[in-house]
Amino acid sequence: MKILIIGAGAAGMMAAATIAESDSEAELCLIDKNAVLGRKVLISGGGRCNLTTAESDMRALMEAYPRGAKWLRFAMHEFSPSTVCEWFEAHGIPLKTEGVKVYPQSNKGTDVTDMFQKIFDNHNVEVLLNSSVENVEKDGDGFKVNERYFDKVIITTGGSAYSQTGSTGDGYAFARALGHSITPLAATLTSLTSSEPWIQDLAGVSIENAKFKLLGKEKHEISGPFLFTHKGVSGPGIFALSSLSAFEDFPLKLFIDFVPDLDYEALTKQISKNSRKTLLRALNAYAPKSLLAVIFKRLNVDGAKKSSEIAKKDLNRCIESLKNFEMPLDGRTPGAEIVTAGGISLKEVDSKTMESKITTGLFFGGELLDVDGFTGGYNLQIAWATGRLAGLSALGEEI
Ligand SMILES: Cc1cc2nc3c(=O)[nH]c(=O)nc-3n(C[C@H](O)[C@H](O)[C@H](O)COP(=O)(O)OP(=O)(O)OC[C@H]3O[C@@H](n4cnc5c(N)ncnc54)[C@H](O)[C@@H]3O)c2cc1C
Repeated sequence: MKILIIGAGAAGMMAAATIAESDSEAELCLIDKNAVLGRKVLISGGGRCNLTTAESDMRALMEAYPRGAKWLRFAMHEFSPSTVCEWFEAHGIPLKTEGVKVYPQSNKGTDVTDMFQKIFDNHNVEVLLNSSVENVEKDGDGFKVNERYFDKVIITTGGSAYSQTGSTGDGYAFARALGHSITPLAATLTSLTSSEPWIQDLAGVSIENAKFKLLGKEKHEISGPFLFTHKGVSGPGIFALSSLSAFEDFPLKLFIDFVPDLDYEALTKQISKNSRKTLLRALNAYAPKSLLAVIFKRLNVDGAKKSSEIAKKDLNRCIESLKNFEMPLDGRTPGAEIVTAGGISLKEVDSKTMESKITTGLFFGGELLDVDGFTGGYNLQIAWATGRLAGLSALGEEI
């Protein structure tokens, strides 16, 4: 049996390693247009490769996937984050956990791609780099690709985010030509932009934990750390918000609660306890000075006055601003998205095998599918889990 895997990213490498290590007689070819394996794996996690998550509770895990969680459940059970960790450690990549993020102890993404290279060398996998696939045609029971015949094809060409890495969305066209539909695509895990003049004054200010509410076609709420940039807002909380709102049209209004742990009443009490301090000092326990300066300017309140000397109405406006800071957003930072939301319709792919329900012998894995997760190793986890399942299924293994 001849199997072709198109795309040597995380999903393709995992599918190939799974087949290679199965001791089957299958002839395996892995093809990628790049000169190296796993180009996106190499830049993931700032080059340190946050390869999965330490989240072990399946329900909590699936909450990190705004699209496709239900469909992904089988693959995630079969190759759960903890099994992924065991797999990498068994393949000579010792891991470490930072918070809930899992990295190679070496902090080197290259250790991961070198390990896959070793598997392919040891099992005589034909790895064709610098080789692009232009189209995939059905040919009898199998497929014709680049003038060669294959019995089975696994497409793992990724999404279209960071297209300079080779992931240019080619797989959408291959899948479409083989009868599949592609759901609308959108940028996710991205910073958000704002053209408010005061944004420059806050560039670099980071907030440990804030609660966000974004009002679009739907209401999106999430908490997390974030920072102001020269052009808007960024950081894990904003990435998660951008993920929830990936399909919303801008402009949108963001409301930020900078003091999520205290309600209005508790915050008012704290200020009155500190009534002899300036308002700036009294509030500095809850927000950085530069942010307070922007708030005071917006509200025309003199923060240098003692809290006791400030009109109750103005104190309430300041508290309202800290609890429900309104910030107009005009878009997503162009070209900076980490992941593509949307992809091959999940209705047309068997979640237990990754095989196409439309074309027998055709399998998919990774970001190309209509699945995506938050930052923190959740997207590579999709790639490992679906890639492994696609590899096993292409071999015809019972799962
Ligand atoms: C900057 C950045 C940082 C990230 N950090 C993290 C992180 O820390 N943790 C995490 O979980 N996720 C992270 N992600 C997301 C994660 O890297 C991706 O979701 C994941 O790599 C997708 O894997 P994939 O195998 O589906 O696709 P890809 O990794 O995109 O691989 C697809 C491969 O297919 C090849 N290809 C495409 N078309 C063709 C063609 N026509 N012919 C031949 N080859 C082709 C491409 O060259 C590419 O190598 C990050 C992404 C970016 C951009």
